[in-house]
Amino acid sequence: MDVLNAWQDILGSENVLTDAVALQAAKTATFATTQRVLAVIRPDNLQDVQACVRIANQYKTPIYPVSCGKNWGLGSRVPVQDNCVILELNRLNRIVDYNEKLAYITVEPGVTFRQVYEYLREQKSNLFISVIGGSPNSSVVGNTLERGDGIGPYGDRLTYVCGFEVVLPTGECIHTGFGRFANAQTTSVSRWGVGPYLDGIFTQSNLGIVTKLTMWLMPIPKYFQTFTCVIQDGSRLANVVDTVQRLVLQETLKSNSFSFWNCYKFLARQGQYPWKVMAGKTPLSLKDLKGVEPWLGSGALYSASREQGLAERQVIEEALKGQVEQLIFTDSESYSGLFNESLFIGVPSDTNIKSTYWRKKIKIPSSLNPDRDRCGVFWLCPVFPFDGQLIAEIVPVLESIIKSYQFEPNIAINCTSGRSLHMFIALMYDRDVEGEDRLAMECYDSLLQRLIQQGYIPYRLGIQSMNALPAAQDDYGKLIRTLKQGLDPNNILAPGRYDFRSDWSD
Ligand SMILES: Cc1cc2nc3c(=O)[nH]c(=O)nc-3n(C[C@H](O)[C@H](O)[C@H](O)COP(=O)(O)OP(=O)(O)OC[C@H]3O[C@@H](n4cnc5c(N)ncnc54)[C@H](O)[C@@H]3O)c2cc1C
Repeated sequence: MDVLNAWQDILGSENVLTDAVALQAAKTATFATTQRVLAVIRPDNLQDVQACVRIANQYKTPIYPVSCGKNWGLGSRVPVQDNCVILELNRLNRIVDYNEKLAYITVEPGVTFRQVYEYLREQKSNLFISVIGGSPNSSVVGNTLERGDGIGPYGDRLTYVCGFEVVLPTGECIHTGFGRFANAQTTSVSRWGVGPYLDGIFTQSNLGIVTKLTMWLMPIPKYFQTFTCVIQDGSRLANVVDTVQRLVLQETLKSNSFSFWNCYKFLARQGQYPWKVMAGKTPLSLKDLKGVEPWLGSGALYSASREQGLAERQVIEEALKGQVEQLIFTDSESYSGLFNESLFIGVPSDTNIKSTYWRKKIKIPSSLNPDRDRCGVFWLCPVFPFDGQLIAEIVPVLESIIKSYQFEPNIAINCTSGRSLHMFIALMYDRDVEGEDRLAMECYDSLLQRLIQQGYIPYRLGIQSMNALPAAQDDYGKLIRTLKQGLDPNNILAPGRYDFRSDWSD
């Protein structure tokens, strides 16, 4: 193919992959997909990316950029549409800038959370990056562009990033914020720049390829505490959720610093399905086995002194008194190891990834790869108002849909702000069990339809559901179409990705 030769001339043949093994891996997600991938191309720097994009335009060949490609549960590396070429950016893995005083780091798309963590350790930095519960080998840029969920006070990605470098679908390059000015001194410390604010349109979209961005880092607090508690069963959730809402709104608890996990989420993190106890049958029902389905709460406190920390702890203890059990705090003075092991303080861990092997009958391997090992995973990510009554009503509805498809309802709820909650529903299954791919997809679809019906639209989508949302009731689709046509006249960049043009009519 001429287009492949053209890319080979720029990147070398070793960075234009067309062999069957590479293509099979590239089109494999944690659920069933049918998209074919024509090739995987691997640029090394900004100029390569621009050249690759220009060639894609010349030959009208669609490309699908990924950073580290660990979008497990939402599509992995698989393009939304058939017959794309994957533009893999993990060779752009440089930490471009870091400033301890002003607390930021500038990274390329191949830079992983683990890499930033290790780099900051080497620098003896007093800062940490908000990590995710997913793979330490995920991309800081990729997670941001999906508007993923970070852990801890800086977890709301778009609030803490700026200074994007973007290759447009025509191959031109722009810098957001103040970055377009030759001598700008404030690109990494000020988000808005001067003029229209553009960063947002390059997230959850197909309007550009981000080749660099700055993420702000949080100071490691003088006194740090984590805590856990048990909520005996779902019927008590309403009060506890409302109590926590007040604590988050008044900022005793910071945003993204407290989450609720149901027992199935917790069990899947601790180990694999209890095949022996269940005599090989699925699903597991703790209600049938033990009579209760408890929830676990866990949070963190970031304080400038011991005194402040203890006062905050007291506020929490008083607020949760009588509502939760086993409220246990651990603090960094009595246990300094906390700084080396808590996700809340930016220590990445692949413990949660092990939960993708929940229903697998193989031993969890040392090198985790749910795509390769045919772990079935779907994430469904709705957002809700932070309201206890609502959560107490909606959770049983969702649980009963999931149970009716013979899966365990694996649910976590993250306190994103004092006003909203992000829910993560995981369908974990074994792709090697016949029929489960189909069943899980059907289960996902019914959950999604139910949520949409009630007005709870997901804040993030998997590749299989980019078309599943209702049409806009205004001219949103028309605006997106205008932007897309203006920026990508040949429609070569990530067709279908958060591509809400379809509802447009003139
Ligand atoms: C057990 C488990 C736990 C998880 N926990 C979390 C969590 O706590 N928070 C969370 O957010 N996610 C979580 N995830 C989901 C997912 O693994 C992460 O979001 C991960 O960051 C995505 O992979 P990545 O960073 O390698 O991004 P990629 O896969 O590289 O990128 C994601 C998508 O963004 C687009 N994109 C990527 N890079 C670019 C670019 N440079 N320019 C333009 N578009 C681009 C592409 O469409 C790509 O498909 C979890 C997954 C699992 C299985």
